[in-house]
Parts: sequence; structure tokens; C-alpha cells
Amino acid sequence: MTAKLGPPPPASSAAVSRSMRGNAPKGTQPEIVLRQLLWSNGLSGYRLHWRSAPGRPDVAYPGRKLAIFVNGCFWHRCPHCRPPMPKTNVEFWARKFELNVERDARKTRELEDAGWAVRTVWECQLRCEPDEVVATIREQLGSLSR
Ligand SMILES: [Zn+2]
Repeated sequence: MTAKLGPPPPASSAAVSRSMRGNAPKGTQPEIVLRQLLWSNGLSGYRLHWRSAPGRPDVAYPGRKLAIFVNGCFWHRCPHCRPPMPKTNVEFWARKFELNVERDARKTRELEDAGWAVRTVWECQLRCEPDEVVATIREQLGSLSR
């Protein structure tokens, strides 16, 4: 089997298809959850997919140079909840995940090289500990110089 990337194969299990639905790449639900959290906690002033920041991070605070990526656990291979690997089409998924993780690392590097602080918020953190997510972002914004 070659590693050529076509459309994703059918989900191998209910759990996997659930993860996939919850992690669509654009305008994802976790991203909306984070936006609402930031807004309702008075942490406004962010830009979404700001073109002037390398990699167009999901959320950017240009004044403080803080970039935030909101990652779906399944697609970006969350180190906290470690979603299960699909059991079929293993090579396809392994390659796909590898590319996602590489892209994440590249964007982080590009932002850091340009003087940005980079923060990754995971979908499961938004679900299980939204208050901590907000508190650490607030802290980070406060510690970055204007
Ligand atoms: Zn997770």
C-alpha cells in the first residue's frame, strides 16, 4: 500500500467517525467555544486567522504577539487525551497525522521566529477545564509586554 493521500477512507468505528465529525478543519466547534470563552471573559481584541501573522493562527492578539491554535484532538494527535488510532487504513492515517503534526510544528516555529508567543489549546481542555484555559491565557496576555 502506498502512502498517497486520497480522500479519507470510511471511518472504521463509531468512535472514529464521532471524532472526525467533531474535528472538521475550518470553523470548527472547538474554535467557536474558545472565541466565546475569551469574549465572555473580557479577553477581546483578538483577530481570527490574522493574515499578518505567520501561519494565520486561529486566534491572534496582535498587540501582545500571542498566537493561539485550537486543535481538534483526533486530527492533531492530542498528547493529553491520546485519541485512539483508527484500526483500518493505518498507513493512510499515520501519514495524514504526521503531516498535520509537522504543519503544526512548522507554524509554531515560524511564529516564534517572528517574535510571537504560541499557545496550543486542545479540544479536550476546552471541554474539561475551560476555566484553566482562560486563566492561563489571561496570565500569558498579562505577562507579554504591550
Ligand atoms: Zn485531547
